[in-house]
Amino acid sequence: MSRPKICFLFCGGTIGMVRSTQTGALQPATEAAEIIRDFPQIQRHLQLDFKMLMNIDSSNMQPRNWTEIATKIHQLYDKYDGFVIAHGTDTMVYTATALSYMLQNLSKPVIMTGSLIPLNELASDGRNNLIYACLTATLDIAEVCIAFANKIIRGNRAKKFHESFIEVFNSPNYPYLGELGRPTTLFEWRKKRRKRVLTFQPGFDTKISLLKLFPGFDPEIIDRTLDRGARGIVIEGFGPGNMPFLENSIIPKIEKATENGVPVIIANQMERGITNLNVYEAGFIAARAGAISSHDMTTEATVVKLMWALNRTRRPSEIRKIIEKDIAGEISL
Ligand code: ASP
Repeated sequence: MSRPKICFLFCGGTIGMVRSTQTGALQPATEAAEIIRDFPQIQRHLQLDFKMLMNIDSSNMQPRNWTEIATKIHQLYDKYDGFVIAHGTDTMVYTATALSYMLQNLSKPVIMTGSLIPLNELASDGRNNLIYACLTATLDIAEVCIAFANKIIRGNRAKKFHESFIEVFNSPNYPYLGELGRPTTLFEWRKKRRKRVLTFQPGFDTKISLLKLFPGFDPEIIDRTLDRGARGIVIEGFGPGNMPFLENSIIPKIEKATENGVPVIIANQMERGITNLNVYEAGFIAARAGAISSHDMTTEATVVKLMWALNRTRRPSEIRKIIEKDIAGEISL
């Protein structure tokens, strides 16, 4: 049987970093990334083609970089059985989510991974993560995932949770797709390989704002956001998405934004929470003022979806439809 062909796209992160001799801080180093090129033993199981796309701390990742990665995958799509992306953990969830919206109807896996300790340091978790990511890319799975610390997580459901080896990413509102190890187990609810026609829909409008409420939040912040030309706003409300509607009421601002054709999406601040604007008056009034609920999407998935939606249409009713629709398993309907 021929070995599966896997394309390895290197984008940076701790996995490819070295410690600066001057400051001791971790910074990207091309030579470190090159270690992966000759990654040992794995070539016995699969044919790995290494491609260096960028080597940056993922805090520097911009939406145009997401598009660059998706474009590469789109170009090479037919040549490989799966893709692996090495990426920093800080914004991995955003990139995974963005890829899931741009590359719809995948028939093969796109697996993201990285490490907390650089690959060239003795106790690195990078080796384990890389091996498992490469093996995951050969399995019967067909979506954008994060394979990290022996778990497979749907990328657009993930959240960076911790900087310990145990649970770097978690998936607050959706079960893991698989567990890696002895044995490796894939769960039924994952998307499986089958013939599908890939649709490539790149591009994001970054002119949005994400605001987090706190008691005493000045509603004028929303005016300033609108003055600065925001084309969409995500607000993390309290509990299931509640907004103050007495003193410092947010409601007139939601009305104003909505009247100006600027969609307002309400997310929540809870660890595992689901936005539900029907539970309390404080949510209901916001919905009546025109706010859209993020439902069980993470804030990350909501923000990226809004940017993606605004690049396709500026019509508020269309934006609402996109936000409320399941594009790549990011929302439960
Ligand atoms: N700052 C690093 C990055 O996101 C963190 C990591 O890779 O774990 O690029």
